[in-house]
Amino acid sequence: MKRIGFIGLGLMGSGMSMNILKAGFPLTVWNRTVSRTEPLAKAGAKVAKSPKEVAEKSDIVIDMVTDSKDVEEVLLGPNGVINGVKPGTIVIDMSTISPIKTREMASRFVERGIKMLDAPVSGGDIGARNGTLSIMVGGDKDAFDEAIPVFQAMGKTITHIGGNGDGQICKAVNQILVGMNMLGVAEALVFAKKAGVDVKKVHTAVAGGAAGSWQLTNNGAKLLVGDHEPGFKVKDYLKDLRIIMETSDSIKMPLLGTSIVQQMFKNLDAEGLRDKGTQVVVVVVEKLAKEKLA
Ligand code: NAP
Repeated sequence: MKRIGFIGLGLMGSGMSMNILKAGFPLTVWNRTVSRTEPLAKAGAKVAKSPKEVAEKSDIVIDMVTDSKDVEEVLLGPNGVINGVKPGTIVIDMSTISPIKTREMASRFVERGIKMLDAPVSGGDIGARNGTLSIMVGGDKDAFDEAIPVFQAMGKTITHIGGNGDGQICKAVNQILVGMNMLGVAEALVFAKKAGVDVKKVHTAVAGGAAGSWQLTNNGAKLLVGDHEPGFKVKDYLKDLRIIMETSDSIKMPLLGTSIVQQMFKNLDAEGLRDKGTQVVVVVVEKLAKEKLA
């Protein structure tokens, strides 16, 4: 069985790496904040001292950190993966980052004869824990085929989209859909409350119909009980909106709906809510409506 390395044990990475271990792969992990490695170590993973050491001990190295600069640090930095890989290692970045930076990094690995895949995910921390993520992959098809068993440990819908960076483009598409859907859920539920009907009954009724969605079922349910905890953080979604807007500039396509969503999330940032979950966009809607949902 291939030896797997995992770098970045945050909300997402902790669940994903645990599922790799449960599937029976030998696993080596590293996290900047060492205490986060403890549950994995208890479950049988080895803990490395650097991303470089993870690479030395693995056939497939996965990272799940925050933004492009963080991926650059763990992959290309002085103690980075690039200094520990050997011919045949596959490097898989599962963070959501810029498609342009992804392509640049992939070419750095190709220069050394190493294949890199971008494999961002959708499905949230719940999907990460349950092993039901949707995984959108860009890069070499043979490397993708080789990595399928490890993807299957983490996800249910696994799609090879195209070349390097194409997985990240697909993830940007996903985030356009997520943001407008989340805003729609918040607006619709506050509308129901303001109109004086039983919001819980409305939620059940519409979740089972043509307006049903992951956002309505999961984040909608959180909103009904006033739960604004992450899940997926506002600050991470602002990063994704930045990536989407940079990409829209490069392909010269206006994004009207997404622009409204971006302004609302900038407002959440200004209100000091950047560490809350994205469902907290309801706060902006509540202000406009002069109505509290929960
Ligand atoms: P998180 O809980 O904030 O965890 C971030 C992880 O990255 C932590 O392990 C952190 O280490 C590490 N990290 C960040 N910068 C680093 C650096 N410069 N060097 C080394 N390690 C660094 O975030 P998350 O929710 O797991 O998200 C991870 C990625 O998945 C992001 O790209 C996000 O957009 C994407 N994503 C998230 C969700 C979601 O619902 N949460 C869904 C799909 C995709 P420390 O522990 O030391 O801080």
